Amino acid sequence: MKNFDVAIDGPSGAGKSSLARRCAAELGFLYVDTGAIYRTVGLAALRRGVDCKNEQAVAAILPELDIRMGYENGEQRMVLNGEDVSREIRMPEISMCASDVSAHAAVRDYLMEMQRKLARENRVIMDGRDIGTVVLPDAKLKIYLTASAEARAERRMKELFAKGVETDFNEVLQDIIRRDEQDMNREVAPLRQAEDAVLVDTTHIDFDQSFELLCSIIRQRMEAEA
Ligand code: C5P
Repeated sequence: MKNFDVAIDGPSGAGKSSLARRCAAELGFLYVDTGAIYRTVGLAALRRGVDCKNEQAVAAILPELDIRMGYENGEQRMVLNGEDVSREIRMPEISMCASDVSAHAAVRDYLMEMQRKLARENRVIMDGRDIGTVVLPDAKLKIYLTASAEARAERRMKELFAKGVETDFNEVLQDIIRRDEQDMNREVAPLRQAEDAVLVDTTHIDFDQSFELLCSIIRQRMEAEA
């Protein structure tokens, strides 16, 4: 069933990436993390000293960027002008700049075809902010995955702690709230639940339960479509 694509949208820190990655591996889909693509543009802008909020300045560097996505042992890698930047794009200072550059129509248009091509050529589970609403409006299944800001901040802290980074809960929470606000209120492709999306709220369930729930929703829809 090549044409069965799953679009997962939701705010940052809701567990989209880890859940989608695991479900994709379990069910034989290609997992596409679109946030990583925006992060790569954000990194390129920061490295060039470009103001991420300035649309014209960011648009001007786009022709210089060769952004490629690849897979290594099932892990998505981002390559920027020949350099693997997969680790660097995860640095906390990149998050806000990724959110800034992603608000520009020029950037979104530039990255749209790359995302659609991946979905045309593969059976994908693609996650982001506008996948069900803009990028893949005809996806066979749309999921809006969310959790309370507090639950997301707590999880993010644990993740960082596991990587040896100690952070302040309020700082992490404020960062999440600020990014939600920016992603939900921008003019182009704001984060919102598509009308035909299934809402999955993971505030009160743990990772394994969320994983089971997500996989079962996907399986059920696949069976209904078969
Ligand atoms: O998902 P992640 O937190 O890595 O995404 C980084 C930023 O990229 C988000 O805050 C969001 O502003 C932006 N983004 C987007 N559209 C997507 C994926 C990510 O605007 N499809």
